[in-house]
Amino acid sequence: KHINFDDMGLRENLLRGIFAYGFERPSAIQQRAILPCIKGYDVIAQAQSGTGKTATFSISILQQLEISESYTQAMVLAPTRELAQQIQKVVLALGDYLGVICHACIGGTDVREEMQHLQNKQPHIIVGTPGRVYDMIRRNCISTKRIKMFVLDEADEMLSRGFKDQIYDIFRKLPPSIQVVLLSATMPADVLEVTQKFMRNPIEILVKKEELTLEGIKQFFILVEKEEWKLETLCDLYETLTITQAVIFLNTRRKVDWLTMKMQEKDFTVSAMHGDMEQKERNVIMKEFRSGSSRVLITTDLLARGIDVQQVSLVINYDLPGNRENYIHRIGRGGRFGRKGVAISFITDEDTRALRDIETFYNTSIEEMPLNIADLI
Ligand code: ADP
Repeated sequence: KHINFDDMGLRENLLRGIFAYGFERPSAIQQRAILPCIKGYDVIAQAQSGTGKTATFSISILQQLEISESYTQAMVLAPTRELAQQIQKVVLALGDYLGVICHACIGGTDVREEMQHLQNKQPHIIVGTPGRVYDMIRRNCISTKRIKMFVLDEADEMLSRGFKDQIYDIFRKLPPSIQVVLLSATMPADVLEVTQKFMRNPIEILVKKEELTLEGIKQFFILVEKEEWKLETLCDLYETLTITQAVIFLNTRRKVDWLTMKMQEKDFTVSAMHGDMEQKERNVIMKEFRSGSSRVLITTDLLARGIDVQQVSLVINYDLPGNRENYIHRIGRGGRFGRKGVAISFITDEDTRALRDIETFYNTSIEEMPLNIADLI
């Protein structure tokens, strides 16, 4: 049976927000996960990239809010500032007719200003990155007493080594009765195991790793053989990159700077973003890319997860990612919500094993790039 948004018992003004945002029917994950979330269950929701996980938890939060009460009732954590900002925009758009107040609590912004802002009026929802959120809790600028829903987007990343301790620090400040909702396209077994420590009989909606790749995203490799030959290969592809929009992933910030310089020296128009840049500059780069005024973005795994730019139809792995999860997240930046996408990985002789490993792991096939690549975009 097919569930519609109208069948979910959502409040009128939330439904209006959903339809005004342009959604007509719920995606598969939305059909399966929204109701359990609204009923208050702990939920682990896994679904392929670009299938609407953001709206899944946003709608669930918005349905449960006491809008007339001006205290913080839900907290969403994400691994990057850009993703937190993107989520805030979706929440505000869907909650437009509810008059929801949603604050993005992220690093790289003025601490004093933020403290003042939070003290003036408590938002219903906080969407943030762990470091700044914890900082604001410690300074008593976020009151956690009445938070009833805690959402971890990109949950496996949030529970991985780099973030885990920070997440637990925040978790300990939340009420013991808190509802926990986790989302990600990837859910490795070790992560699922640790969730038992802080979730209560969660409803698990899971996808087999063999079913994580999307039919709409065609995957290819180019055997460049040697590292030195990647640059020229990329330049040869430039026209293809600009057919719509493209993201190029490299493994280090320094190499992003280097490649950007090389491309610009050759008069190719590209923009670049990584974690060493000032937040103001990061915001400008993202804005230009979202608006389509820049079309080729060179970056690190900073943007591998969650970022939703519908016009992106091509992803290049200039370097293969360091882990298998990020391969799926990176290629998922293209082909959003059922659109067409192409992912091309540059492969040196040393990479051939790793590429085969990815194919085996996801039970997918990655073929040599054909000549008619432009037709597929
Ligand atoms: P995920 O988090 O699963 O990778 P997102 O939440 O970013 O995916 O959603 C991907 C895209 O699909 C976004 O552009 C979003 O606006 C769109 N989308 C989500 N749900 C729907 C829906 N029910 N109908 C139409 N578009 C949708």
